[in-house]
Amino acid sequence: MTPRTTAILSALAEEQQGLLERLQQPRRVTRAGRDFWLGDLHGQPVVLALSRIGKVAAATTATTLIEAFGVQRLVFTGVAGGVGPDVRVGDVVVASEFVQHDMDASPIFPRYQIPLYDRERFACDVDLSALLSGAVRAGGYTLHQGLIASGDRFVSAAEESRLLQEALAAAGHAPLAVEMEGAAVAQVCFDYGIPFAAMRTISDRADDTAHVDFPKFVTEVASRYALAIIEEFVRGLNTMHPT
Ligand code: SAH
Repeated sequence: MTPRTTAILSALAEEQQGLLERLQQPRRVTRAGRDFWLGDLHGQPVVLALSRIGKVAAATTATTLIEAFGVQRLVFTGVAGGVGPDVRVGDVVVASEFVQHDMDASPIFPRYQIPLYDRERFACDVDLSALLSGAVRAGGYTLHQGLIASGDRFVSAAEESRLLQEALAAAGHAPLAVEMEGAAVAQVCFDYGIPFAAMRTISDRADDTAHVDFPKFVTEVASRYALAIIEEFVRGLNTMHPT
């Protein structure tokens, strides 16, 4: 049986670099103004892509991966701002679910509900997320599992972060982290019935120093974490029973 093709979506080029260097028989295909890298990683057929930043860009990339490259599962790596009380810079969050913190079609639909989907959250695939969490633990990183909130804002002020969390809490959502793409990719994968898992290394605390911490962290820490975790995850795919 031909193994399933796995899409590995990275938010930032620095995170993709290490994977690209390890890709066997690399082949580049350009589509929708984006580069997609096809090849093998530890014996698994993969397509590497950059999500680009923000929900729409990430949704286009995810849709292209599914429609044009026929990927059968999708894993996302990126960085995020930590908002959960114990979620610190350098910790890793594996998403169990996603919510869009900037979705508000009230009063027609309840706040945070995705119109016409009758839901506020999209869940990640349980088996794939367990494999990803195992890879995080294997690397000795501090792991959190739970809700991530996505929206088209780089949250870089303590007051903004507080208000955002307060509003989410009033609707029963307590995210561990905020970022700008995950919920969009989760929605696309839901539409297509494609298993999805996502990890985020915490680069900042979504507060007034977020913009300072961010660039240095991405190059020095997050890219190394993402590479180690994804390599371990892909090795794990070899032993995963077909779903
Ligand atoms: N300066 C970067 C752009 C960063 S945008 C550049 O030059 O390319 C922030 C990226 O990190 C997004 O992909 C987002 O998902 C994530 N992120 C990290 N911290 C965040 C925060 N505090 N708020 C929102 N997104 C954050």
